[in-house]
Amino acid sequence: MSDYRIETRCIQSGYTPGNGEPRILPIVQSTTFKYDSAERMGKLFDLEASGDFYTRLGNPTLSAVERKIADLEGGCGALLTSSGQAACFYAIFNICHAGGHVVSSSAIYGGTYNLIGKTLREMGVEVTFVNPNDPEEKLEDAFRANTRLVYAETLANPTLVVCDIEKMARLAHLHQVPLIIDNTFPTPINCRPIEFGADIVVHSTTKYMDGHASSLGGVIVDSGRVDWDNGRFPELSEPDASYHGIVYTRQFGNQAYIAKARTHLMRDLGATASPFNAFLLNLGLETLFLRMERHCRNAETVARFLASDSRISWINYPGLPDSPYQALVQKYMPGGTCGVISFGIRGGREKAVTFMEALKLAAIVTHVADARTCVLHPASTTHRQLSDPELQSAGISPDMIRLSVGIEHVDDIIADIRQALETCSV
Ligand SMILES: *Cc1c(COP(=O)(O)O)cnc(C)c1O
Repeated sequence: MSDYRIETRCIQSGYTPGNGEPRILPIVQSTTFKYDSAERMGKLFDLEASGDFYTRLGNPTLSAVERKIADLEGGCGALLTSSGQAACFYAIFNICHAGGHVVSSSAIYGGTYNLIGKTLREMGVEVTFVNPNDPEEKLEDAFRANTRLVYAETLANPTLVVCDIEKMARLAHLHQVPLIIDNTFPTPINCRPIEFGADIVVHSTTKYMDGHASSLGGVIVDSGRVDWDNGRFPELSEPDASYHGIVYTRQFGNQAYIAKARTHLMRDLGATASPFNAFLLNLGLETLFLRMERHCRNAETVARFLASDSRISWINYPGLPDSPYQALVQKYMPGGTCGVISFGIRGGREKAVTFMEALKLAAIVTHVADARTCVLHPASTTHRQLSDPELQSAGISPDMIRLSVGIEHVDDIIADIRQALETCSV
């Protein structure tokens, strides 16, 4: 499908029906698959043959959506997971366990910050958080002999820090480790990190990809470009005793990373996506390019409105011409960024809460990046576990409001914001 434009691939990629088969991707709602011989099934278990035999490890509906997303990101393979958190965890843990070290941008989603900063630390993984805006010479200091990967977000949730993907990839590759990028906010419509040197891309598909706030999900996409035989990744380049000594790089070539995530992590940890959710995700993907266009256009208009209002103390939208990230935006996502805006209201934390409660169309929900406009106060919700210094290093101020601009008519969204501003300034 790679010859077609991304709009066409959003719709057509991943599933091509044969003669007399269903026109749209069927939901194979079955935990298991039948075989005629025990020997054949044994070969599947030993990874000597390919085929679905238990949905935790593979299912035709999941496979089709995995093929589509791999195609959209320009990767060689993908693995769907039950949530974005599971995707982030598996993507890291697949190549970095106790004794390993992660260099992570501090400008990342709160859940991932906890995952890396607490849970992985408890599992024996060392972590250094870095400011992704620091110059290369300074970022260099974070690397150690046991560093196994670099982690960052293309457009950070909720700070909207834009990652200099090429810089981070250069650093990672200098140390012979991959760059893992969470590309949830721009989606492959607006940015394809693999084209700029990222090695592995993860998503919370819960957000724009699903787009309708219907299903949690995540995905890991591998570029297929990492040389796992460089001595740093024995889990991929040396025999796995739990599969009679297979060596992933030898058995699966450039599919080694995804094959291991599936056959080892999914086998043992089991955060499998459901076929029904994958079907819904696929419907979302079919209209992703249309929705992203509208999200971005609406957000630009709303951002300009907020920027011109004296009751707004600061605004951060990378799509605004005076954003400090303009150069990076022009390079990595010239067609648009995302629909998320963060801003503060004069009067700080208290005014922020009053404003949010006065909104009528935009709802207060723990969500972002779906068709309906919504707002959230990160300091008291998604980033609640972080201490004040951690909040600061993650770029979250106590007055920050995260506004996720939906695809409604932009005049209605602005009218709602205007009336809420008026309500809270009296
Ligand atoms: C929401 C989000 C996640 C976590 O995904 P879930 O689907 O909620 O588990 C990870 N990264 C980013 C950037 C997100 O926005």
